[in-house]
Amino acid sequence: MAHADTPLHANTPCSPQDVDAFLNEAETLVARRGLKMTRIRRKVLRLLLESPEPAKAYDLLDNLDGEGSAKPPTIYRALDFLQETGLAHKIESLNAYVACGHASHNHSAVFLICNSCNAAEELHATSTNKALRAETEAAGFTMTRAVIEVRGTCRDCAA
Ligand SMILES: [Zn+2]
Ligand SMILES: [Zn+2]
Ligand SMILES: [Zn+2]
Repeated sequence: MAHADTPLHANTPCSPQDVDAFLNEAETLVARRGLKMTRIRRKVLRLLLESPEPAKAYDLLDNLDGEGSAKPPTIYRALDFLQETGLAHKIESLNAYVACGHASHNHSAVFLICNSCNAAEELHATSTNKALRAETEAAGFTMTRAVIEVRGTCRDCAA
């Protein structure tokens, strides 16, 4: 398995490590909500899964070969869909996107982002999730999504 040696990033810690298996799981998850995984959405998710680090929308656009008519709005719509269904997160400080391997279960998107190599590792942070939800609800605010970005130095770069 190549996975054990790959640098830390936010992909698939819980979902199948195999990209096709992951995509099939994602498709089932989306279908269960009565939504549809179109070709472009699936392709964008595949690119995110295959990207060794958080991917920029324009890099995705460049790599959408075979989908020549894809324009920036198409990509952004696909990325919005993936975020709304919890299959991807946007890391604002990098202006980049990552696939999420935890879409099927409760977690808060807490990212550990390395200042040296830009690797982004996603934590489950279930207690953070609970606390954030409780405080958000207490404030009378309806949360749709939250991404917490923690900056620092990753294991590999600290070594
Ligand atoms: Zn996630
Ligand atoms: Zn998980
Ligand atoms: Zn690093």
